[in-house]
Amino acid sequence: MIPPDHPRYRSLVIRELLAENVKKGIVSLEGLTAQGRGEAFDYFIGERTTASAILAEKTAAALLLTARHPVISVNGNAAALAAYEIAALQKASGALVEVNLFHRTEERVHLIEDLLRSAGSDIFSGPAERLLPLSHDRAWCRREGMFSADVILVPLEDGDRCEALVTMGKTVIAVDLNPLSRTSRRATLTIVDELTRALPNISEACRTITRSEREELKSSLDNNYLLSEAIREMTMRLSHALD
Ligand code: ATP
Ligand code: MG
Repeated sequence: MIPPDHPRYRSLVIRELLAENVKKGIVSLEGLTAQGRGEAFDYFIGERTTASAILAEKTAAALLLTARHPVISVNGNAAALAAYEIAALQKASGALVEVNLFHRTEERVHLIEDLLRSAGSDIFSGPAERLLPLSHDRAWCRREGMFSADVILVPLEDGDRCEALVTMGKTVIAVDLNPLSRTSRRATLTIVDELTRALPNISEACRTITRSEREELKSSLDNNYLLSEAIREMTMRLSHALD
């Protein structure tokens, strides 16, 4: 039992949750190290949603709402951390939810789909094909799902696949606490925020932004600005860390 008054309560609960999901076969061991890298960057940003992240989250909502065929791509970490938040975002945005894994087995795909369904998502599943220009197993997806998407939200992505999706002409929205990663720099729009904070903010924006705000947000999208703001926030905190 983790005492709720522990100063790192939230982080410890999340670690325990991920460890449990490793035992169930939902999260890969590699997924634990990815979370660790994220936590380090979350420290730098003060474990809060910055003003530039809010702007990125509203822009993500605008892109999803005006898409022809929006898809949310879910991996093991995203499902374990945010199954309910994913279901809420699907409801708010109308996007398809599809599972895509780096460490892919049919069994893991089914476990993750079941977890998402039990939290209320409607999953786009069925036979997958090797359709993305990648040599690893993330190339597997569904022709009428991710392959046909015009806008795709890829929380906790790896740089390779992000690049492949952008090369295919897709608008790629990444959620990544590391503003220096290849994913962050290659995505059309990067949200530098923790996944469980980011998703409810995108859902909220889906419910509240007006049609004219959608167009305004889309036309002023500047990913370099968003990344440089995230780096500026981190630098500022680091330079005053011992004040
Ligand atoms: P690349 O540079 O190719 O993008 P990478 O090594 O960053 O690769 P991964 O380690 O697979 O790729 O990606 C995990 C990323 O997700 C990390 O950059 C980490 O900062 C981020 N991350 C992990 N957990 C979370 C989380 N809960 N919320 C937001 N971002 C997270
Ligand atoms: Mg990455």
